[in-house]
Amino acid sequence: MIIRFATLPLLLALNLSMCKKQESVSPGSQQASASSPTPAAVAAPVMGASPKITKPVVDQTAQVLIFCYHRLVDKIRYPGTEITPAAFEAQMKELKDRGITVIPMQDLLAWKRGEKNIPPRCAVISFDDGWKSQYEVAWPIMKKYGYPFTMFIYTEGVRGGSLGGGEAITWEQLADMRDNGVDIQAHTATHQDLREGHTIMVASPGGKKTKTKLTGPQYEQWVQNEVVGCKQLLEQRLGIKVNCFAVPFGNYNEHVKELARNSGYEAMFTVYGQPITFTSPLDSLGRYAIEANKPKVFEDAVKMIATSAGGGAAVAEVGAKDLATQPADGETVRNALPLIKANLSAIGPIEPGSVQMRVSGLGVVPASFDPKSGTVSYQVTQKLHEKSCSVIVSAKSQGKKVEAHWTFGIEQGTAGGTSPVATPKK
Ligand SMILES: [Zn+2]
Repeated sequence: MIIRFATLPLLLALNLSMCKKQESVSPGSQQASASSPTPAAVAAPVMGASPKITKPVVDQTAQVLIFCYHRLVDKIRYPGTEITPAAFEAQMKELKDRGITVIPMQDLLAWKRGEKNIPPRCAVISFDDGWKSQYEVAWPIMKKYGYPFTMFIYTEGVRGGSLGGGEAITWEQLADMRDNGVDIQAHTATHQDLREGHTIMVASPGGKKTKTKLTGPQYEQWVQNEVVGCKQLLEQRLGIKVNCFAVPFGNYNEHVKELARNSGYEAMFTVYGQPITFTSPLDSLGRYAIEANKPKVFEDAVKMIATSAGGGAAVAEVGAKDLATQPADGETVRNALPLIKANLSAIGPIEPGSVQMRVSGLGVVPASFDPKSGTVSYQVTQKLHEKSCSVIVSAKSQGKKVEAHWTFGIEQGTAGGTSPVATPKK
């Protein structure tokens, strides 16, 4: 059995300093907001009248991988934030080969609102920080595959901003992307830790940069600009609607979340990669950061939702409810070392040896299966470090592969109190 541990947050923590010019643009928010009714409009039928708008039946068992890339360069100097164009293109091709559909970020959100169906296995591609290589190198590859994508931009990092150097994307390039359907979203103003009292860099009017810790009203004013000012600037400068927020390094807290929610963000993104399900909380959608020094992150992510290595075998999906899973789908537990269980007897006769359990952050786990009761179970022995945990149980029954997916939450504080990177990443 192979047990893989989630090392990505640690990696990212080690690379905080690399993240000084990051943003991603997602194409889709503006179209979606222009063409689809707001949830409020949909949800406000006259009492007693039969609703005119019927929502499509969405596949609640679909799963979505969200990938996050930074710079594309031929010669890797910073393997924590770079990838070669060849490796990137190979990954885009692999998604296609494995039957994983690349969808716009806005389709993911529409699916979670119950407004739009998506294929059973999807990916969303995002680019962080706004590097010019994303415009010059990544975009042509994305065009070749016909893939939509999102750019998460920090506004001071755009060329000409106080942090936008020669490798930064320009406002003209962003406008060009916007005009061609690329989704552009927010990643703060200056790309720093958003939590009160943390050391940040501020520029004085003279341009001199100093390290400081802001608290109280000074902090509030600063964080307001990071979360809200950034959104307003992107919306005004590009004439778009911004509804997604990627938090730098994933360092946020309830106060930042509330500020983001109140300023009109619909979804917030971390860098704790995990398959996104229908019930994943919108204020902490985990993305897989794909970098040159972590080649297995992409492979592991794809395996989490791929039906088979060859991508061909049919898999029947079983609802987690039918399997009386423990913890239940959507449940939040207080224990970072839960017992994970499912009863497979509803599926029918199970072929011995075919039962497999995967847990996000761990990979395949040595679960035990009791043929008498039909119960597969695994006692987690390594604290689950993420806020939510996805489980995939698969088995063969009468020659057919059957799978069930579900997700449960782990209450913060219990999830990884010993880890310095337990803070949700966005
Ligand atoms: Zn970033």
